[in-house]
Amino acid sequence: MKIWLDGEILDEGEARLPVTDHGLLYGDGVFEGIRVFAGRVFRLDDHLARLSHGAKALALELPGGVARARAAVLAAVAAHGQPDAYVRLLVTRGVGPLGVDPSHCVAPRLVCIADDLRIFPPEKLQAGIDLVTSSWRRPPSDVLDPRVKSLNYLNNVLAKLEARRAGADEALLLNAAGRVAEAAVANVFAWRDDVLATPPGADGALEGITRRTVLELAGQLGIAAHERPLTRFDLYAADEVFLTGSGAGIVPVRSLDRRAIGAGRPGPVWSKLRNAYLDATPALGVAFR
Ligand code: PMP
Repeated sequence: MKIWLDGEILDEGEARLPVTDHGLLYGDGVFEGIRVFAGRVFRLDDHLARLSHGAKALALELPGGVARARAAVLAAVAAHGQPDAYVRLLVTRGVGPLGVDPSHCVAPRLVCIADDLRIFPPEKLQAGIDLVTSSWRRPPSDVLDPRVKSLNYLNNVLAKLEARRAGADEALLLNAAGRVAEAAVANVFAWRDDVLATPPGADGALEGITRRTVLELAGQLGIAAHERPLTRFDLYAADEVFLTGSGAGIVPVRSLDRRAIGAGRPGPVWSKLRNAYLDATPALGVAFR
């Protein structure tokens, strides 16, 4: 692991943050999880745009702007040196007095961690993963907008914990209206009646970079795909369901709430899109050296 902090590259044991950073005290900040494929940082500018929009929503300034965040990512990834890696970029509100008021935090802090990849084991990816519907709902946008990838990830943590304790791999979260939002840390797609559908951001989905890539690839491959509100019925009745996220890529789902999805194994639409995704990644990446 290599860490960019205050313009320096540090090892894991050396990087330290003050305990009065409001990122720690209140989960006040934003982050990105970014994938490096074959020596290229995947859709870096899209991640930086999402980070910047989330920061704006929190009235949080990116220290040094997008340019410094971009430079931090490229420096951390180059120092890590691995062609395949996972990057965690974060901006915290910075140090301030105890007390939630962010107006006393004058210096937001930028951190970038480049680490080895940790994804589902290959046998899981081959068989498909098991999903379970969470008892936790995705918060509505007037509570905590799920489109902001904030450091306050407790809703996601609790959903993941619940799923793991139930023996499943991932949680499916509904919004307060009972419509499908997304998984704990991934977007969800359903293939039914020859159409691919994924819930809109307004239903509580993060506007995922992998999700956007899949929608674009579907267009190029002539696969009908759109954003549409979904209920659990659409998933139970689907021929295929898969999840998308920067870390794991495109992950087939074999069951939801112990009901087999389609034939209970990864399907042809997943396979086609995953191959297209693997083919497309080099051209969509930024070289780091
Ligand atoms: N939703 C949530 C809640 C996530 O944490 C992630 C992972 N960043 C995603 C969706 C997938 O987004 P992306 O494809 O940009 O990684």
